[in-house]
Amino acid sequence: MQKILVSRCLLGHRVRYDGGAHGPFDLLQQWLDEGRVVALCPEVAGGLPTPRPPAEIPGGRGSAVLDGQLPVLTIDGEDVTAAFVDGAEQALALVREHGIALALLKARSPSCGNLENYDGSFSGARVAGEGVTAALLKRAGVKVFNEEQLLEMAQALAELDAG
Ligand code: SF4
Repeated sequence: MQKILVSRCLLGHRVRYDGGAHGPFDLLQQWLDEGRVVALCPEVAGGLPTPRPPAEIPGGRGSAVLDGQLPVLTIDGEDVTAAFVDGAEQALALVREHGIALALLKARSPSCGNLENYDGSFSGARVAGEGVTAALLKRAGVKVFNEEQLLEMAQALAELDAG
């Protein structure tokens, strides 16, 4: 059975920067019941506390963080790049350990966002981009979806199951 990597906050785990969580999502519960879900919060895995100050990537591109071209900064200006990269590498290790090809990650997170991100101004402005973990998983060939793409994720999973 194909396993999937899932952002912990989408499973109701209160690991968001503000101590919150998301869900429940019916499809996710089904995948949990099937034993497919490998859960990770990259920021907590990288050593950050909960709650924690919000962080953004100036310009929103996690791939540039991986290349050492951009930092991840908290709203207080603290550089938390190392923790974000550490969490992304732990996500990649899990993907390799479990042979994972699909991930369901939280939209618009500086770690997990797959399509867009906040722009680093902490104003709520969005830009096209991705979080650090999403960028690293994409580089490794993992297809990354967010919680607003559950049906597309289900379709991709069904295709993988069908072999
Ligand atoms: Fe953790 Fe990702 Fe959820 Fe942020 S979006 S709380 S890094 S799992």
